[in-house]
Amino acid sequence: MRIDLHTHSRASDGTQSPTELVHAAVAAGLDVLALTDHDSAEGWAEAASAADASGLRLVRGMEISTRHQGQGVHLLAYLPDATYPPLAAELERVLEGRRSRVPGMLAALRAAGVDLTEDDVDRVSGHSAASGRPHVADAMVAVGVVADRTEAFERWLSPGRPGYVDRYAAPLRETIRLVTEAGGVSVVAHAWGRRSDERPDAEAFAELAGLGLAGIEVDHQDHTPSARERLRAIARDLDLVVTGSSDHHGLGKVDHDLGCHTTAPEELERLLDLAAAASAASGRETPDVV
Ligand code: AMP
Ligand code: ZN
Ligand code: FE
Ligand code: FE
Repeated sequence: MRIDLHTHSRASDGTQSPTELVHAAVAAGLDVLALTDHDSAEGWAEAASAADASGLRLVRGMEISTRHQGQGVHLLAYLPDATYPPLAAELERVLEGRRSRVPGMLAALRAAGVDLTEDDVDRVSGHSAASGRPHVADAMVAVGVVADRTEAFERWLSPGRPGYVDRYAAPLRETIRLVTEAGGVSVVAHAWGRRSDERPDAEAFAELAGLGLAGIEVDHQDHTPSARERLRAIARDLDLVVTGSSDHHGLGKVDHDLGCHTTAPEELERLLDLAAAASAASGRETPDVV
């Protein structure tokens, strides 16, 4: 059984519609796919009907932008009731931060000599519920400033580059609690990806586990083999679930093909059991796993 628990569609910053993503997952030989768009459940319904029609098992999820001890942490939330009002309100705050950042980025780019309009961004972002730097990157590609998303990030959009603007992120501890109350489970995404300081460290993970964190995404392209082994050991010590996933963004991110990392079936079962327990405790219904 092949299980990929972290993917993006055009409902955030992937380049495929939820339907196209599901079809690509089937073609890639996956049996279980989680759709985890940034900060939004917008793609769930379309993905669920496509998955239903093609016999793929869909896990409804999202990747929430949070902050912990001054650092950005992406939190994968699986099977929460996204309509739980406190969670929905927090997601709306994050989405508003994304929306209001776009004009800020355009102003910063303009000051650095790159002329882009909101229309340029809207043309490439389509109906994305969660606008982000990848959409600004795509607009820069469309007008010919850079060759691809990677170059846009490296030259313009990463922290410290001329077009970078910060945005609101949800407090991590509080978000773990909200996800549990919404009948879901949380997993820290690419915990040590793209960073060298290896935080959250073992001690921080112990605290988060005490707050209800269910797992750590260990197998991810942004982790070195040694980081994976140490994260796996931390997860084992704390009895946290270990996941592995592609973080696929369609054509938007190279070297993140569907199924390039996968999750063991028994780890998925543990996650689903924990979600069922959270749902039973809170009375919040877990959305169907088709
Ligand atoms: P944002 O959500 O606007 O802060 O943008 C973060 C998104 O940009 C994440 O989904 C990343 O996967 C993506 N991203 C970050 N760095 C790169 C890169 N070098 N090339 C393509 N996508 C990237
Ligand atoms: Zn993304
Ligand atoms: Fe992420
Ligand atoms: Fe992601």
